Amino acid sequence: MKKLVGLLFILLVLVGCTETTVREGTMHEKKLGMSLLEKKLFAIEEAEPDYFTAGVNPDTGLYTVDNETSMLVYVNKYRELPEGYTPPDLIEANVRHYSPAGDNRRLLREEAARGLETLFGVAKTDGHALVAVSGYRSYERQRAIYESNVASKGQAHADQFSAKPGASEHQTGLAMDVTVQGNDDVLLNQSFGNTEAGQYIKEQAHKYGFIIRYPEGKETITGYSYEPWHLRYVGEDVATEIYHNEWTLEEYFGFDYPGSER
Ligand SMILES: [Zn+2]
Repeated sequence: MKKLVGLLFILLVLVGCTETTVREGTMHEKKLGMSLLEKKLFAIEEAEPDYFTAGVNPDTGLYTVDNETSMLVYVNKYRELPEGYTPPDLIEANVRHYSPAGDNRRLLREEAARGLETLFGVAKTDGHALVAVSGYRSYERQRAIYESNVASKGQAHADQFSAKPGASEHQTGLAMDVTVQGNDDVLLNQSFGNTEAGQYIKEQAHKYGFIIRYPEGKETITGYSYEPWHLRYVGEDVATEIYHNEWTLEEYFGFDYPGSER
């Protein structure tokens, strides 16, 4: 018991030391012994409801999502995946691929891969030979892409066209860039949206659980340029709701997007 009292005394002295180092702020803050940085993050967290985030990562300033394995995981320029996240059930969709056999870009999470197979199969019977270009991308690969874009085109350009490592939808294993066979001019090009295949997926993809994640005219909401080739799996119900309302994922959740007031 004496030992415990002694320990409590030492702890009180230590807490006292912390208090004396905090010169500004309210009593509440002094009690918590918070640094200015922590105080700021705490204020943001208190003002925002909890939409599946584990709080703010002090290294990046982004919210870290805590539902990373959900089909509705939501990442954008404010929201990143937990460090080191690798999707649990990546498989190669049984469709035509642009990348060579064994390439990670062929991978998607299983449910999304099944949806892609169905979409591509139906598209084929309707006369559109779709090709899967780029699916899963690891944190390390995204970091290399981002850093190379910053080096060659500058920070602002890189932020408009590519995601920071941890904040790419491709890391979720739920996104696939697609194109049409035999027309490399439209490969990862906005002109893909004007092709028959591009129009087809815009109108049909939701039936198989996919949305066009970065639509035309919604750039200030998504924070990304128009990408008619970037499909994101969210499941059939949510994709259909988003399609009929002409929403983005940001608008579906109704909060916290780069174009919104903060
Ligand atoms: Zn993409």
